[in-house]
Amino acid sequence: MLKVEGINFAHGLIQVLFDAGLEVKEGECVALLGSNGAGKTTLLKTLSGILKASSGTVLFQNTHIEKHKASTRIKAGLIQVPEGGKIFPYMTVWENLMMGASGPKHAWKIRHVTAERVGKLFPILKDRKNQQASLLSGGERQMLVIGRGMMALPKLMLVDEPSLGLSPKMLLEIFNTLKVLHEEGVSILISEQNIQHALRIANRGYVLENGRVVMADSSQKLLNSPYIRQAYLGL
Ligand code: ATP
Repeated sequence: MLKVEGINFAHGLIQVLFDAGLEVKEGECVALLGSNGAGKTTLLKTLSGILKASSGTVLFQNTHIEKHKASTRIKAGLIQVPEGGKIFPYMTVWENLMMGASGPKHAWKIRHVTAERVGKLFPILKDRKNQQASLLSGGERQMLVIGRGMMALPKLMLVDEPSLGLSPKMLLEIFNTLKVLHEEGVSILISEQNIQHALRIANRGYVLENGRVVMADSSQKLLNSPYIRQAYLGL
């Protein structure tokens, strides 16, 4: 579904990504793991087209999209869910959801059906649909950004650090919902520092360190790796 090769990216003079690459097969949930500043968000943004890589290729459903605009990538079903629960605070919860459906025409057509589906996964969003989104808690905002992403009818969802700032209970709820989404057939690439939670739902993972992919393996093998256990899990 997605094949990324040789991505280089610099913020000004500072190179952040070095020949980064990864793959997501149809129906997979893949984790992009790494600590603060490893380059996870930057890599996701080059995939969704928010940032333009200086070199590298992005093949999405057999089409080269590295030169495509972000809006074209959205229409093709490549949807990024930003980190930190970035909502439109002065819009209602419902209006936020509708923003997610406003890009692809086919998503707008069936927005009410999709909103029902989002409401089933996140009942709180349905209950509070007429409230201003700024009144939501951090965890509820995270639900809203995922729900907004679902409204665009993603084929592949790029979920950036959903655990950021969440309580352990909320974190479990969010990851369980991502698992349900995956089971419903959405392919997911999830960027996370919280390795254990991400690998619980992912089939495979890539480890990004200082902008370079240094490991790629199945979730089980990564969790059992002495390096991961020592460097990331403190075991
Ligand atoms: P985090 O988990 O903290 O979000 P990350 O792995 O997602 O980390 P990035 O946000 O991609 O990492 O950042 C990678 C590097 O790029 C960091 O050193 C960061 O300071 C730098 N960086 C990110 N955005 C910019 C920017 N707009 N201008 C300059 N440097 C930036």
